Amino acid sequence: MSRFLNGRYGGLEPYTPGEQPKVPGRLIKLNTNENPYPPAPGVSKVLQWDPETAEQLKLYSDPEAAELVGAIAEYYGLETHQVMVGNGSDEILAFAFMAFQPENGRIYFPEISYSFYPVYCDIFGAKGMKVPLRDDFTVCPSDYYGAEGTIVITNPNAPTGMALSLGEIESILDANRNQLVIIDEAYVDFGGESAVSLLDGHDNLLVVQTFSKSRSLAGARIGFAMGHEDVIADLNKIKFSFNPYNLNRLSILAGREAIKDREYFRETCRKIIETRESLAAELRELGFEVLPSKANFVFARSGHMGGEEYFEALRQRNIIVRYFKKPKIDDFVRITIGTDEEMKMLIRATKEILDEKLRQEKREGMTKGEKS
Ligand SMILES: *Cc1c(COP(=O)(O)O)cnc(C)c1O
Repeated sequence: MSRFLNGRYGGLEPYTPGEQPKVPGRLIKLNTNENPYPPAPGVSKVLQWDPETAEQLKLYSDPEAAELVGAIAEYYGLETHQVMVGNGSDEILAFAFMAFQPENGRIYFPEISYSFYPVYCDIFGAKGMKVPLRDDFTVCPSDYYGAEGTIVITNPNAPTGMALSLGEIESILDANRNQLVIIDEAYVDFGGESAVSLLDGHDNLLVVQTFSKSRSLAGARIGFAMGHEDVIADLNKIKFSFNPYNLNRLSILAGREAIKDREYFRETCRKIIETRESLAAELRELGFEVLPSKANFVFARSGHMGGEEYFEALRQRNIIVRYFKKPKIDDFVRITIGTDEEMKMLIRATKEILDEKLRQEKREGMTKGEKS
């Protein structure tokens, strides 16, 4: 820390992103929930670096990102003033945390959820209210009734993958008419139900989505929010006070092409869901507990080893998954759904690791037997 840092950031604990290997291709990367399939074919077409496209980069991007906002509004059947875009949904969430908390106010979110929320609370001076999950790792809607501050719920939740129904989300909205309820739908396209349909009749709802997961554009940094026009106007006020050109020209084009191609989108989501279901079945056959996932990852634990040990053993076999060294979930690893081929290699490696583990347990049992 330099002597120049503002004291209020002295204790800030930044978010730890999953590892991004420098040499691509050597590792099977199942740790940050990226999509294994390329973006829609239209994206590469529109990003051809001909001199004309390159020349446009001398001009600022459209601060309204109208082409992209229009395409998103059309996709969801909304008015354009109900939609705004951000540099990843992380930026939208940051704007929302800035905008929608009373001075030193409370923000409620599940204790086990996206680990960026507590970081945003710290940086923006909100009091993070961590609401425990039930023992089966589900979010209990009634725990949020009558909250005294903004509510943020990831649905489907991460890293569990488990989803609330639309009815449960609606009950939270109805029980908190005077609080903003943010539903972070980063994974909704893999089997969840979007709360967008509840915007009609709920001016306290803000739905946040991203192009990073289901639209294969994590590197383009595109997120968006959908809500009542006044809520969107508030977010835009923050955005225009912070970084008006938050989306660059290339990302606006890429995003527009990606959301236009509904067929490609449906097909890649379908494949990921199918792969997820067969992976979950195979892991269960190997004795794993796998939480029922509606996301592009599964959260699983083996009865034979802790999460860290399994994580390390996979790492040695050039497969990276995500492990969280936190109470209640440190038996688990989170595995991103890749291609069928990648999942086959994961299962092969897992069988090897389990075999080794069983042999080791047997050896230890024998030495114990000799001693007694
Ligand atoms: C991946 C993720 C995001 C962030 O997405 P970006 O658009 O890439 O910033 C937000 N929320 C959750 C729960 C996520 O998993």
